[in-house]
Amino acid sequence: MQKFGFSNMSTTQALELLPIDISRFRAGNTGIPYVTTLDSGTQGPHVLIMALTHGNEVCGAHALSWLVDQGLQPRRGKVTLAFGNVDAYAAFDPDNPGASRFLDEDMNRVWGRDILDGPRQSRDLARARVLRPIVEQADLLLDIHSMQTNCPALMLCGVHAKGRTLAAALGVPPLVVSDSGHKAGPRMRDFLGFGEEESSKTALLVECGQHWKSESREMAIQTSLRFLRATGTVDPDWLASRVDAQSPTQRFVRVTEAVTITTPKFHFLDDFEGMEVIARAGTVIAMDGNQPVLTPYDDCTLVMPSRRQIVGQTAVRFGRFET
Ligand SMILES: [Zn+2]
Repeated sequence: MQKFGFSNMSTTQALELLPIDISRFRAGNTGIPYVTTLDSGTQGPHVLIMALTHGNEVCGAHALSWLVDQGLQPRRGKVTLAFGNVDAYAAFDPDNPGASRFLDEDMNRVWGRDILDGPRQSRDLARARVLRPIVEQADLLLDIHSMQTNCPALMLCGVHAKGRTLAAALGVPPLVVSDSGHKAGPRMRDFLGFGEEESSKTALLVECGQHWKSESREMAIQTSLRFLRATGTVDPDWLASRVDAQSPTQRFVRVTEAVTITTPKFHFLDDFEGMEVIARAGTVIAMDGNQPVLTPYDDCTLVMPSRRQIVGQTAVRFGRFET
């Protein structure tokens, strides 16, 4: 098994990166709590950077706070900075840091009209409904996440060429994954035009690294800066003094299928962290009850194996390196 650029570390993580006080952003200026729009007053795209779609993924909150402290101001169009599941974030408990991903349900599995307009009620869905207008207004979206495992940072660019092109324009992170999401429900990055090939609306979801590693904050900041640069909304001189000049070679992975958990007895047969390449087709990587989970082809890449093994949720995605 080939590991891609990281060591296999213990699943016990030091909490290098903790939640910060975001109360200064509560009022915002959009009528939506914790959502602020910086408007250049001139024509241009409406660019949205979303942090905390998952409440325990704190690197995005650090990045937005840093951008504001650095005096971010667009020169074209609008830049909106949004903190997503703020109530889950407020529930962070350092003794159980993974628990604050959401309150009642995953806020990144509700982004379909049928769900948002439907009768279901939960605290996370209520917040998604409040955020919906700003997500609908945005032309370009960067949704900032982090991961459970010590997987290298990934850009999830969706299945269409427009997402891949935007990911390439950013140049980071070095790994770009095309995938269509989860059976458990649609993601913000796939909502309405973002998920439609013919729409010019484009979204990226960045997984900046492990939730509580300090490098994840740096990745969130650098990805945000490069996203802003690609949108043309921010003064190039302001960006140039802040963007890390390194440009790693990007590699692209296409997800071919997601493994959805069907029994309560799902378990992996190894301590997979993500982006391992399994050489032989037919290798058993997990058991779902009595059913072996087999890799479908040679050189199959394991994308984001989950440590939360719940029936109906994605356990792992299979992908192929394309470049
Ligand atoms: Zn996430």
